Amino acid sequence: MTSRATRVLVLNSGSSSLKYQLLDMRDNARLAAGLVERIGEETSRLVHTPRPDGGDADGGDADGGDADGGDADGSGKRERTGPIADHTEALEAVSAELARDGLGLDSPELAAIGHRVVHGGLKFTAPTVVDDAVLAEIERLVPVAPLHNPANLTGIRTAQRLRPDLPQVAVFDTAFHTTMPEHAARYAIDVATADAHRIRRYGFHGTSHAYVSRKTAELLGREPADVNVIVLHLGNGASASAVAGGRCVDTSMGLTPLEGLVMGTRSGDIDPAVTFHLKRVAGMSVDEIDELLNKKSGLVGLCGDNDMREIRRRVDAGDERARLAFDIYVHRLKKYIGAYTAVLGRVDAVVFTAGVGENAAPVREAAVAGLETLGLAVDAGLNAVRSDKPRIISPRDARVAVAVVPTDEELEIAQQTFALVDEGRTVIA
Ligand code: ADP
Repeated sequence: MTSRATRVLVLNSGSSSLKYQLLDMRDNARLAAGLVERIGEETSRLVHTPRPDGGDADGGDADGGDADGGDADGSGKRERTGPIADHTEALEAVSAELARDGLGLDSPELAAIGHRVVHGGLKFTAPTVVDDAVLAEIERLVPVAPLHNPANLTGIRTAQRLRPDLPQVAVFDTAFHTTMPEHAARYAIDVATADAHRIRRYGFHGTSHAYVSRKTAELLGREPADVNVIVLHLGNGASASAVAGGRCVDTSMGLTPLEGLVMGTRSGDIDPAVTFHLKRVAGMSVDEIDELLNKKSGLVGLCGDNDMREIRRRVDAGDERARLAFDIYVHRLKKYIGAYTAVLGRVDAVVFTAGVGENAAPVREAAVAGLETLGLAVDAGLNAVRSDKPRIISPRDARVAVAVVPTDEELEIAQQTFALVDEGRTVIA
């Protein structure tokens, strides 16, 4: 009997972490998911969840949070701690866990490995099967993504070593945004300087914006090509995009993920002269300023917390600092909704996604409050419903739909990967 290889392993490699999901593309079922963290330390930890669709509705470990050992929640979760020296060992450990469930990396049913790659520059406009030239180009982009691309490369090379025969596919965070017109992508700085250093707006979270904008069209019962959507991806990192007929025409992140919305720890938009000021007047080094704006700003800089649940709790308890942080966050969101309404001309839906967007009803309510002239409103009852399904939360007669659409970057990476490699190859079952 013959059958197709229908499984895709999705890898998301960070500098000291490796997240993974194994999916079966016949029905998009998640067969396993997990995370290795603190790679290279004595206290590395692997958390492996077989059949995660059964439990874990919030997608896991968004806040670096901790699943405690054993299987207390009945999810079948397994945990192992102890030193894991590097990504090769990490992937070997993952493979061993998968093998315990009969899903090892050596399985002939594995069709490909899909890798999240953060920066694809202008060259990579679509998912790409990795070869030496592709690796070299991802390497060439390290100066514009110094934190992410090296880790992504390590993940790819490790997977190549373990399964040299298997297609490795790179799916780029920037790809969806490569359709942005020049007038949205260019900064108004000297063109020669910008071009010499590849300074332009690339945008990130593209896999999420692509998935969510397409799902929104589905929710509205229309073709993506007929729908204009503003996507608000509000996680710890946050970005907005304007999507016209399925193509991104503007997005809030820029050369790096620092630009745009107020985020958990990043400032988002800021007068660039603040950086000169911090150097000249406050005597800070470039690295210190980088750390300030990326790690100690945003919600955490404003009020000491970056978790919207905690901020809302404090707001409800009358905490003024938390209130101001919330108001600044929402004010920036409103500005982007207004700006992207102007960019798109006609808006069919404003859609909220990611940890904050999917869960924080007060953020959604506040972000569209007072925007009735743009056709925007939320129905308080619908907004309060908790669900992990795509849903419309605007009143029935609203001119513009306001929606909540849970994102699924791993599924999108798996689908893009599979679409690229599946040519009806057969394996002996
Ligand atoms: P990441 O950018 O790390 O992938 P996520 O999309 O998982 O982030 O979002 C994480 C954030 O979502 C948390 O920092 C928290 O602020 C927010 N969040 C998660 N659950 C809730 C909730 N129930 N209510 C409000 N905010 C939430």
